[in-house]
Amino acid sequence: MENSSSNFIKTIIQNDLESGKHKKIVTRFPPEPNGYLHIGHAKSIVINFGLADEFGGETNLRFDDTNPLKEDQEYVDAIKQDVEWLGFEWENLRYASDYFEEMYDRAVLLIKKGKAYVDDLTADEIREYRGTLTEPGKESPYRNRSVEENLDLFDRMRKGEFENGQKVLRAKIDMSSPNINLRDPVIYRVSHATHHNTGDTWCIYPMYAFAHPIEDAIEGVTHSLCTTEFEDQRPLYNWVVEECEMESQPQQIEFGRLGLTNTVMSKRKLKQLVDEGYVDGWDDPRMPTISGLRRKGYTPESIVEFVKAAGVSKGSGVTDTAMLEHFIREDLKVKAPRTMGIVDPLKVVITNYPEGQVEMLDAEINPENPEMGSRQIPFSREIYIEREDFMEDPPKKYFRLFPGNEVRLKHAYFIKCEDFIKDENGNVVELHCTYDVETKSGSGFTGRKVKGTLHWVEATQAVPAEFRIYEPLISDADMEKEEDSEGKTFLDYVNKDSLIVKQGFIEANMKDAKPQDKFQFFRHGYFNVDPKHTSEEKIVFNEIVSLKSSFKL
Ligand code: ATP
Ligand code: MG
Ligand code: MG
Repeated sequence: MENSSSNFIKTIIQNDLESGKHKKIVTRFPPEPNGYLHIGHAKSIVINFGLADEFGGETNLRFDDTNPLKEDQEYVDAIKQDVEWLGFEWENLRYASDYFEEMYDRAVLLIKKGKAYVDDLTADEIREYRGTLTEPGKESPYRNRSVEENLDLFDRMRKGEFENGQKVLRAKIDMSSPNINLRDPVIYRVSHATHHNTGDTWCIYPMYAFAHPIEDAIEGVTHSLCTTEFEDQRPLYNWVVEECEMESQPQQIEFGRLGLTNTVMSKRKLKQLVDEGYVDGWDDPRMPTISGLRRKGYTPESIVEFVKAAGVSKGSGVTDTAMLEHFIREDLKVKAPRTMGIVDPLKVVITNYPEGQVEMLDAEINPENPEMGSRQIPFSREIYIEREDFMEDPPKKYFRLFPGNEVRLKHAYFIKCEDFIKDENGNVVELHCTYDVETKSGSGFTGRKVKGTLHWVEATQAVPAEFRIYEPLISDADMEKEEDSEGKTFLDYVNKDSLIVKQGFIEANMKDAKPQDKFQFFRHGYFNVDPKHTSEEKIVFNEIVSLKSSFKL
């Protein structure tokens, strides 16, 4: 595993600074505002902002908004919020659409140099003429239009004289190039659509492969870092920079995409999950979006540390989600207060405890971080325990409650199960226990030992709470592929039982918990107060991660 302290991009940057090729490095993070950011984008953010920070450079946040049909202000706002939340500051906020006029001028320059032409072929024909890896492409019959005719047609494209798809502008490069990207790529298309930023000013829009290098060059980006699927486009990137006579010459460098097990990562797929109602929005805690992870309870630190540890190699492997979980456990271990919550309550009456009496017990807030001090929790004759912590007829090695067995209640006393009550359906609805006053926690009692320690909540003051427990949204480990061998897509692998909702109770001192507060519930795991569903009436918790981990770094 590579880590961020040594990677190939860093080496290139170091060399460029030492050789004097650049005095200062400039990077950019260029999301298209067509969806929310996901944890894959966090990798790109950490690389771009992280390297600039490390070498005293700057990073622009640039919205790559060249496709009006898919882009929206909602996404722009969400992306800004997520980058800031991850802890990064951009030098300049830019939009590709700020440069539409300059891009147009550069396209005109290409036409004048005989390096671009207006083509009347349909999209299907262009695809057909392009050829394949083994077959050279075929030239369009419109390829040899005169400069004058091309200038006139391109001007009329801009003026709105043509329908969508009727004409395109293509770079004139090489129809027999072994690199298909260089077989006269389309660089402008007609699209009569309202743009979120430029409104109806334009009805022609530049294609990504043309726009991106120009955006980078205009901003003086020195190192244009992108993912490996753009590797084949690098010759075109360089062609555009050179033929458009851009002053500054950015260098494109590719790194591997981040993928996670049991996760789909492309915005197109995530949008489908949202639009088709599989999840409760882009910020659903089961989504790999930054906003989903935030709502689930991940901290920015845990995400950044995870991404750094996953490394900056060229390869794009699928990383085990367990590794991401490892980093949030590590982060919350010292930060999150400990508390007790009952997810599936069973009432216990402590028959020898005085009726009407309530005593306050002292409980440490975080044994990993003693500075957090202690809290007071009530104890009385009636408490709730977890339903699964009682069995009428237990197997061997079950050390929790069963008739005649004694356990410790965390921070309180030993109790012994004397009896249980069933309803008419045979379900256990109440336990009768006795407690031993000698065994109070912290009293130094050593008279006898018990094997089980249970969590509990005092019943009269318990605060009702909802617990939302999550399973992976996608049941197949590797779902980045479009289809599996049986022709099933990721939608066939959506886990319909990925959200489990439980109604339980929490400690009285938790009643003022605020959205996004995080806790470790004893014996359960880490939970976050859900900002969307929590109300005056009810606190809702999202499970962030369970306590146990099989993951070793
Ligand atoms: P998607 O396919 O999810 O829509 P994208 O690459 O089209 O992703 P952009 O908005 O264009 O999304 O991405 C902005 C930047 O983030 C790009 O430089 C892109 O390469 C990078 N990026 C996107 N997904 C990942 C990923 N999974 N791992 C690393 N970087 C990524
Ligand atoms: Mg993109
Ligand atoms: Mg995309």
